[in-house]
Amino acid sequence: MDLSGARFETLGVHAGCDPDPTTGAVTPPIYMTSTFVQAAPGSHKGYEYSRTGNPTRTALETNLAALEGAPCALAFASGCAAATTAMFLLAAGDHVVAGDDLYGGTYRLFTKGFGRFGVEFTFVDTTDLDAVRRAFRPETRMLWLESPSNPLLKVTDLVAACQIAREREAMAVVDNTFASPFLQRPIQSGADLVLHSTTKYLGGHADLVGGALVAAQPELHERLKFFQNALGGVPSPFDSWLVLRGAKTLAVRMERHSANALALARWLESRGEVERCHYPGLASHPQHELARRQMRAFGGMISFELKGGLERAKAFVSSTRLFRLAESLGGVESLIEMPAAMTHAAVPPEERKKAGLADGLIRLSVGIENVEDLQADLEHAFQHSLARST
Ligand SMILES: *Cc1c(COP(=O)(O)O)cnc(C)c1O
Repeated sequence: MDLSGARFETLGVHAGCDPDPTTGAVTPPIYMTSTFVQAAPGSHKGYEYSRTGNPTRTALETNLAALEGAPCALAFASGCAAATTAMFLLAAGDHVVAGDDLYGGTYRLFTKGFGRFGVEFTFVDTTDLDAVRRAFRPETRMLWLESPSNPLLKVTDLVAACQIAREREAMAVVDNTFASPFLQRPIQSGADLVLHSTTKYLGGHADLVGGALVAAQPELHERLKFFQNALGGVPSPFDSWLVLRGAKTLAVRMERHSANALALARWLESRGEVERCHYPGLASHPQHELARRQMRAFGGMISFELKGGLERAKAFVSSTRLFRLAESLGGVESLIEMPAAMTHAAVPPEERKKAGLADGLIRLSVGIENVEDLQADLEHAFQHSLARST
């Protein structure tokens, strides 16, 4: 189907989803096969072996490329598999400048994984562009950004940061998991490579683990495609199909996630029990104006600190009923967690402290339930945790 000129919502539903040529099926089939028959050695219809390529995965990759506004995309078995594959673009002696408020698993992969192979890292607050500039060295090959960041929702100026990388001939990578392509498309801001944990908003239903890489240039895509096959961290046809199904509703889900989160963030900020609330949609957020320019809406993630610190926070997260206490984010159902003890436990305490991540910080992944029900759930937790901690 010719989708040139189609807008985001239309691409989400249709890109990669032409009717099946043999049966007319409207939904792409799940090609559960490891291998493909050849008419003669080397003569095939584009598929040889499912690590290298599978038609269901191709449908997903076509869709993801359209959503990010790129020529092509690659799907992976997890966000970490995508990150690992991206890091294979580097070699020993190369240096990476990365945000100091990254997903904990990315930090672990860098420091405990690629650090052992002679890749060096400097972690900086990427909202401070001078700090980014100062961190560059002659051997810096990559700038790794997360915006909004996890869990403090710091917003980095993607155009300016990618420009710094370009001037130094380093590759700009943006982990776009928190925003999703509906809220921002980093390639338009100058990024060379976009990463997703499709486990989160793209899949959207907390029923799979997956990842993606979307390259701005076909040449970079080809290098990554080589490593996708060589390393082998590919998703199953079934998981590819689930992510594709999620992508079709990404736009409507993100609108509701963002509207619910904005309402709850404003309400939380007004509560006397809350010490500080981090949400890019709040006028009090340090990069609020930048977020307005850079993002279509502000997303579904909120973090906040309670007065009374760690003990109060523990009581609070154990008192919600709709907000389930669990790691992960981006699903239709609301989740609550404490990063220092859960998602970010892999980040050493002194690093967490430096980055401003308090032990009592609470993170919400606001789902698409009725917002009044969500607010009532948090109200209950305020009452209950107050009773328990006094
Ligand atoms: C979850 C997450 C990842 C890692 O993805 P997995 O699918 O869990 O491997 C990377 N970056 C961000 C921002 C994430 O939230």
